[in-house]
Amino acid sequence: MTGQVQAQLDAGERAVQTAYSAFIKHPQLCGPCRKEGEDCPEAARLRQAWRDAKDEAVAA
Ligand SMILES: [Zn+2]
Repeated sequence: MTGQVQAQLDAGERAVQTAYSAFIKHPQLCGPCRKEGEDCPEAARLRQAWRDAKDEAVAA
């Protein structure tokens, strides 16, 4: 494995972690998500962004 490939994997992992932390922190800032335990449109967007980041990390 070349260093460049490893760097891409690391970047993918960081993107996943960043997207995941944004998703799990969202309810702390969002009344409907916190009180009702539901995904508002923003939570759904963050969840999708996390999934996309995971897909890209796997594909890299
Ligand atoms: Zn929300």
